[in-house]
Parts: sequence; C-alpha cells; structure tokens
Amino acid sequence: MINKIIIFLTFIPLIAIAGTQVDSDLALKMLQEQEKHFEQRVIKLTENVYVAVGFHGANTSMIVGADGVIIVDTLMGPTAAGNAFRAFRQYSDKPVKAIIYTHSHPDHIGGASAFVGNQQPAVYAMKGFADSARVERELGPIMMRRFNRQFGRKLPPHQMTNRGVAAAVTIDKDRGKGHIPPSVTINGDTKITIAGVDLEIYPAPGETDDALFVWLPEEQVLFAGDNFYYAFPNLYAIRGTGYRNVINWSTSVARMATFEPYHLVGGHTSPLSGRALATRALREYSYAIRSVYDQTVEGINLGKGPDLIAHEVKLSANVVDKPYLIEFYGSVSHAVRAIYSGLLGWYDGNPVGLHQLHPRAEAEKVARLAGGVKEFEEKTRAAMKAGEFQWALELADHLKWLGEAEHQSAREIKIAALRALAAHEYNAPNRNYYLSYALELESGQIDDVWF
Ligand SMILES: [Zn+2]
Repeated sequence: MINKIIIFLTFIPLIAIAGTQVDSDLALKMLQEQEKHFEQRVIKLTENVYVAVGFHGANTSMIVGADGVIIVDTLMGPTAAGNAFRAFRQYSDKPVKAIIYTHSHPDHIGGASAFVGNQQPAVYAMKGFADSARVERELGPIMMRRFNRQFGRKLPPHQMTNRGVAAAVTIDKDRGKGHIPPSVTINGDTKITIAGVDLEIYPAPGETDDALFVWLPEEQVLFAGDNFYYAFPNLYAIRGTGYRNVINWSTSVARMATFEPYHLVGGHTSPLSGRALATRALREYSYAIRSVYDQTVEGINLGKGPDLIAHEVKLSANVVDKPYLIEFYGSVSHAVRAIYSGLLGWYDGNPVGLHQLHPRAEAEKVARLAGGVKEFEEKTRAAMKAGEFQWALELADHLKWLGEAEHQSAREIKIAALRALAAHEYNAPNRNYYLSYALELESGQIDDVWF
C-alpha cells in the first residue's frame, strides 16, 4: 500500500504545476487514494486497544482495562460518538471509567456524553484547556464562514471530495452538544493507573497549546492527538487561526518518537503499526516541521519577505516522498507565511508596505498602465483563456474596483478561475476553499465591493 503510494507519488514533481497544483485527473486520484485512510471502521490494534476511524472527522479510541474502559477523544457530537461507541461495544461492555481529551478542538471533545452510562467518568485534559476559545468566539462570524469554506461544508455533492484527513460529510447537527468539561487537569508528565491500565500522559504543545499525548507502556501504543496524522501537518489553517508554535510542534513529535511506539494512533486517519514504521514516521514528521521552520528563518534573516520565502521553501529530498507528509491537509507555503507572521508580525520589512495605496487607487493606476479599463478587462479575460488561472484571479482582484460593470465581470472571471484552480488542487482545504468561494460569489452570498 505504502509502496504503491510512493511509486504513485514519485511522478508528482514531474508534472506539478505549482505547489499543490497538478494535472486535474491526478489531483482527483490522489484525493481518492487518501480517502482509504478515513474509511469508517473499528481497528483492533491490540487485545485491549480499539480505534474507531471515520465515524466523524477525527478518531476515538477505547482502551479496555480490568473493570472498565478508557476513551481517548470523543468526536464532534453525541450522535457520531454514539455510533462509534456502539461499534466499540462489540468488544467490551465494561463501564467507561475515564475520558481523555488530546486537545480542545471541537472535533475531539463534543461527543463525550455518548460514552457516559450510570457512572460519571473522570475527564482528563491539559492545563490551559480551551484557553484560545474566547478569541475564536469573538471572531465567530468570519471564522464560521471560513471554516465552512476550508471543509467544503456547503458544497453540492458533485464538488465534494474530502477534507484531507477526514471525509467530506460528517454528522454535525449536534456539534458540541455532548461536551463534558474536564474534571482532572494534567500539569506535566503524569503516570496514572485507571481501570488497572498503566497510562502515561505528556504535555505536547503543537497544533494547540493544550495538546497532550498518551502512552500505553504495556501495549506500546501512542495516541498522538492532532500533532500527527497521515498528511503534512496543518501548521496553519486557512479557516483562520492564531500562531501554532511550530518549534513546539516539532519538539513534541520528536519526543513521541523517543518512545519508539509499536502502534501510532493519530488524531485523524488510520493508525500506523510496526515499531520501525511508526518511529520513523514520527522522526520524519518532526524533522519536516523543523526543516520548514529553519528554512523560513534563514530566509527571514536574509531580509526576504514571506511572498518570496513561500516560493523557496521545499520539503527536503529525504522526506518529500513520504506518504504521511503529502500536502493533503497542511501546506508548506502557508506554513512559511504563518511562521513569518508568527515570529515577526505582518510587516515584511519592505518600506513599500508602510503606506500602501488604497486597493482602488492601485487598481485604477494599473488599469491605466494596461491602456485603460476596457483593455485591462480584455487582458484579464485573455489570461483566463490562456489557462493562467492564478494570474486571471489576481487581475480580477483589481478589476473589481473599476466600476459597476467591471465588478460584475470580475465576479464571473473569478468564479471560473477559482473552479479551474480547484480542479488542479490536491490540497483539500485549498480545493474546498476555492470551490466554496466560487459558489458564494455565484449565489450572491458574497456581494461586497471588496470581495
Ligand atoms: Zn482534529
């Protein structure tokens, strides 16, 4: 399977158009191939460890002890969680003694109530759990729109593929309805015994500051949460997110590798089994993250801005063909931009940016250079016709400022360019975003002058 993907992907660099843009048939084939990693099923990892994949976007796991079970992560809402729990119940009907949240993202904490019977289980989470939630609530209106775009939640079925590390469609109607707040706070490295099972819990800041990982020494299973899954990590999410500390992420994954697990359970996608494979995957994952960071810092110190560095940083040759590092979810170029702004803020050091022209003024001047508004519009359409979709999109972004008719014309060109870019895209968030934005433009949901 893995070999097949490697062989399959060896061809990508030869035909890559730019970044995660490839031939449209290949993009689709790659996304379909990736779907095997989140097909719905329960995987029996060891005598006492079961992982439910594909019941929602994330995974939930059950560890069976002497007189009870422990649940790691609880999916988005009680309906999906209940489905997973019923599937687990074929293997054990012991009461749930504890729930552990690997981090505070909604797709891991919203279904807890579905696992609770007569006894209230202890709920474990990291210190500082959900501290970032307040900011996200403040930004609710825009974050929800961008969230829907990144995951393609409003797309018609024929435009849906998947979400990179999750299926296109999930049960979301009761999102967050089953959340149970943590009752036990993890402050540092912790060794405990629950239901006769020895567990080790370690802080693992990365995708979120409140992330942890769980190690089962007896069974040699490591639960990584969202610091690992079968795709390049989402070091930045285009739905909009504060800085995800990339160094911490790399360090946390490197620490996981020191356990040399036999089974590695990511927050999404199917588990990896085999000590050599799981350990190598963690080492390479950590290395890839660190390498993107180091290359970015090198560019920053040379005085380059994020636009340029984003084009220059590449996954190095020793990891570029690893199937668990393909940019189905995270994107290297987006990571570069996130690291830049995370470390230095928005300003790229170029004085051009200190007093930029208003976008409308710039558009008017650019149009004049093109020979006038009419000529400018013709050139924009010509770019589209020539298959220069990104360029057409950039020109349309000027065109939209130049008048009522031009605004309408820019809208049409954008819709076509976004769909063309989407067709070539194997990065699922990008693809979903392009298609969702096009749909919003088409249906008049985006009707602002600055769209
Ligand atoms: Zn997740």
